[in-house]
Amino acid sequence: MRKLSRIRDGGIPTAFIGEHRKSQLLKLVKAERDIKNGLLNKHKFPSTWSPCKTQLHKESDSKCAYCESPTTVVSYGDVEHYRPKSKYWWLAYCYDNYLASCTLCNQKYKKAKFKTLHPKIQGPQIKKNNTDTHLKNIVATITPDPIQETDGVSWNEYIQQHNDERPLLLNPYIDDPKNFFAWEVKPEDESVVLVPLDNQNDLHVRIVKASEEDYGINRPELCLHRFEAYLVYCAARLMSEDAQLPENYRNMQRRIRERLLRKEGAYSGILTFFEQQPIDQLVIP
Ligand SMILES: [Zn+2]
Repeated sequence: MRKLSRIRDGGIPTAFIGEHRKSQLLKLVKAERDIKNGLLNKHKFPSTWSPCKTQLHKESDSKCAYCESPTTVVSYGDVEHYRPKSKYWWLAYCYDNYLASCTLCNQKYKKAKFKTLHPKIQGPQIKKNNTDTHLKNIVATITPDPIQETDGVSWNEYIQQHNDERPLLLNPYIDDPKNFFAWEVKPEDESVVLVPLDNQNDLHVRIVKASEEDYGINRPELCLHRFEAYLVYCAARLMSEDAQLPENYRNMQRRIRERLLRKEGAYSGILTFFEQQPIDQLVIP
């Protein structure tokens, strides 16, 4: 996982912006009123979010926002609801609640899991007798607009809600993984595994545990892929700094090292962690 930024440009589908956004939200709050009145059993969520995939892949450099595996090479990748729509119904069509995820992180592991340190964000309190006019008035105040910061919940307020709830699953658009995560090389297992940045910090420990349980961050095949990326990185770093080697060799290894560390590179967030360590502290497999 590496820190990501939203690209708030024309690539976000119009259905998730401005009046279209409010119109989608209005259907949700009306459905919530129907549920309160016993007219509807539960929310139905027509999956209209697929058009967001292109923009989300652009934001995460065609990698899974959770595990940093390339998402577009062997599959289409998923539009993942960071806060699951089954528990946070009002965020079902909120662009800021989306991220690009690989199918395994999303469908095999995360599903609808979402642990938090503090009480969960409360959604809009819809009552049985709320009028259509009342519902229409409140939809503007429930979720952020991805383009117009002042239209809806402000982006800062949305981040504040996140911090107040403190999910145990990091949101790479809000949380910087390097403040919580460290990576440990285990040559005997051919693995690079996620560990807490500070073992004595209860929050770090709980976040790593939730990452393992909720999106399989230390699943064996992922640990092995990270290890293979680490091997190439390690060789490139050692050789690019080896004064005994001919200059053209060193230059080639320098180019390999730079490519591995580019944000588009698979697991580059993890390799950057090792790049920041002194060379004599690297575990040489
Ligand atoms: Zn993934």
